[in-house]
Amino acid sequence: MTQTDLCTGLLEFIAASPTPFHATRSLAALLCESGFTRLNEKDAWQLQEGGRYFVVRGGSSLVAFAYGSTALAENGFRVIGAHTDSPCLKVKPSPELQTKGYYQLGIEVYGGALLNPWYDRDLSLAGNVVYLDASGELRSTLIDFVEPIATIPSLAIHLDREANTSRTVNPQTDMNVLLRQSDDKINFRAMLSELIDDDVQEVLDFNLSFYDTQPPGVVGLGKEFIASARLDNLLSCYLGAKALLNSAGEHTSILLCSDHEEVGSRSDIGAQGPLLEEIIGRLAGDQEARQRAMRRSVLISADNAHGVHPNYSKVHDDQHGPLLNKGPVIKFDANQSYATNSSTSALVRWLAKGNDADIPLQQYVTRADMRCGSTIGPITAAGLGITAVDIGLATFAMHSVRELAGKHDLGHMYELLSRFVSRKALPALDSL
Ligand SMILES: [Zn+2]
Repeated sequence: MTQTDLCTGLLEFIAASPTPFHATRSLAALLCESGFTRLNEKDAWQLQEGGRYFVVRGGSSLVAFAYGSTALAENGFRVIGAHTDSPCLKVKPSPELQTKGYYQLGIEVYGGALLNPWYDRDLSLAGNVVYLDASGELRSTLIDFVEPIATIPSLAIHLDREANTSRTVNPQTDMNVLLRQSDDKINFRAMLSELIDDDVQEVLDFNLSFYDTQPPGVVGLGKEFIASARLDNLLSCYLGAKALLNSAGEHTSILLCSDHEEVGSRSDIGAQGPLLEEIIGRLAGDQEARQRAMRRSVLISADNAHGVHPNYSKVHDDQHGPLLNKGPVIKFDANQSYATNSSTSALVRWLAKGNDADIPLQQYVTRADMRCGSTIGPITAAGLGITAVDIGLATFAMHSVRELAGKHDLGHMYELLSRFVSRKALPALDSL
């Protein structure tokens, strides 16, 4: 894979994935194109050695695996974990608001979103809709308005002279999304049914998020940056999938892309739920075989890392501030907000030392007087008893409507994840 191929592929993948449902659909398409077979969890599975499979749960979490020919109890699993969701604005169940002749929709903030960047954007709306069809059957579908159908205008500075020094945002009152100028009562659910390519009796429910219609792009005088929504963490989903697609191992490798990370992963399809554990249970066999396999397994949790912002470098520890385009970042936290331990970080450094070329690595630790965020790494490690490491690419503006990462880092991360799933043998971490 060339750097240009990875960059083009990533930008197309993100553009086609405005919500976790769409991201999962995009991942499924990528996997199917490369010969993966979709499995249904309700069926009995007849897996072939060397076969490649995936499972979707809840429409927005996915587990893909290359089923190896070697015994799992002797070789364990190599797992890459990432998440499909990003902070955003979700439409409330009864959202219609009519004020001064303007039709607006009320929103809930999903996850730890930076709210200010959502103002003055050309927004569209996408997600999942559940409806009754003409025959009274319950069905669901993905929809996407595609066009910029909405916006949240800022309040002019003349009306709030303190805007640049002390404006705060109240999402309940300040972020209702403007859709049109109309005195007519517009039924939101009826509007949705027009987008569905079926005979719709009634839209019953939905999970819809606004997104910025500005497409992902390459920016910078040297074209060295990628600017896009949802880099956290569709970037890792994409690179993890590409690494798995091109893996050449005899062992079993797994990619987990789960929803609900931004709200703590506590759901039936989130990393705190049993999804990965149940798939691993089906593959590994009885309790003893599973335990033996887990002792030989490793999870790489891939999620973005805070790059040192040149205007705000003081919020980083001087010795541990990763830069964009300078390689994947190993994330450490003594308080276990990241799952990295000395053995798993050493494994990443071992992988980075190539036969032909070393992959540059960086490290991140939050300042001792600040708290860091977390990932699915510690949650998955605690749930499965799998040893894990947190890595990611340095990123600016995390949780903004438009984030910024380094284009040259894509190749480094892809190479690192590829070595992880493709190397014939990994060091035995449990004996360290
Ligand atoms: Zn993330």
